[in-house]
Amino acid sequence: MKLLKIPPYFTFFLSVLLLTSCSKDEPTPADITIANKQSLGTSARDFLSAEEFTSLRVEIAYVSGFKPSTTTLNNLRSFFQARLNKPDGITFVETVVPATNKGSLERDEYVKIEADNRTAFNVGDELAVWIFFADQSSEKDTDTSRILGTAYRNTSCIIFEKTLKDFSTRIGGASLTQLETVTTEHEFGHLFGLVNLGTEMVRDHEDEQPNDDGVDALNKHCNQENCLMYFQTVADATSSAMTGLPTFGEFCLEDLRANGGK
Ligand SMILES: [Zn+2]
Ligand SMILES: [Zn+2]
Repeated sequence: MKLLKIPPYFTFFLSVLLLTSCSKDEPTPADITIANKQSLGTSARDFLSAEEFTSLRVEIAYVSGFKPSTTTLNNLRSFFQARLNKPDGITFVETVVPATNKGSLERDEYVKIEADNRTAFNVGDELAVWIFFADQSSEKDTDTSRILGTAYRNTSCIIFEKTLKDFSTRIGGASLTQLETVTTEHEFGHLFGLVNLGTEMVRDHEDEQPNDDGVDALNKHCNQENCLMYFQTVADATSSAMTGLPTFGEFCLEDLRANGGK
């Protein structure tokens, strides 16, 4: 009996020791940006369902003079509301980015622009996404093809707003709002895991053509010609001949819904 009796001061000493060792072993605070630096398509379900994230913060970043139109932003809001289960709401924030003055942008450069300027990251049950409307075109442009936008990480995409402006000021060019809307929604389709890029296909509808640059890999587009995720859809949007805004076809919609979307 005597042996089991613990003196009060000893209990106190023990708990102080435990507290000390706890705080000593505590890891250094995690980098809050890590969850937003994963590969493209890995947050598809986070966008679509309300399981992990019940709200969405959309950071619209742009260089002064390259801000998307109010109609484009309204279109995007409706697009998110129609497809994503975010019962606690969708918030837009705007960030003005300094002019880049680089001529054209390659991946390393726009990744750095994001690192220097992004303010919205996943916090608690709020998912965050970065869209940068750039004052430059893509480094990958050639005489025959121009890149309008690129989704490059799980919650990051760039829209080459300068290129969109070039197209919209041409004779027969589309309205800038149409171009902004179609390009941005198409890139979000990739962020939502389309096609076969983090969101599983319910029925096979992946475009079998290789990439333009001859890389022997599937290009993650849809084989339905009327679909927002068809490879040619964004290019077609550069012409005023396109009437109305393209939307997801039935196969892509089926995939989004099977992965938690609306
Ligand atoms: Zn695409
Ligand atoms: Zn499709």
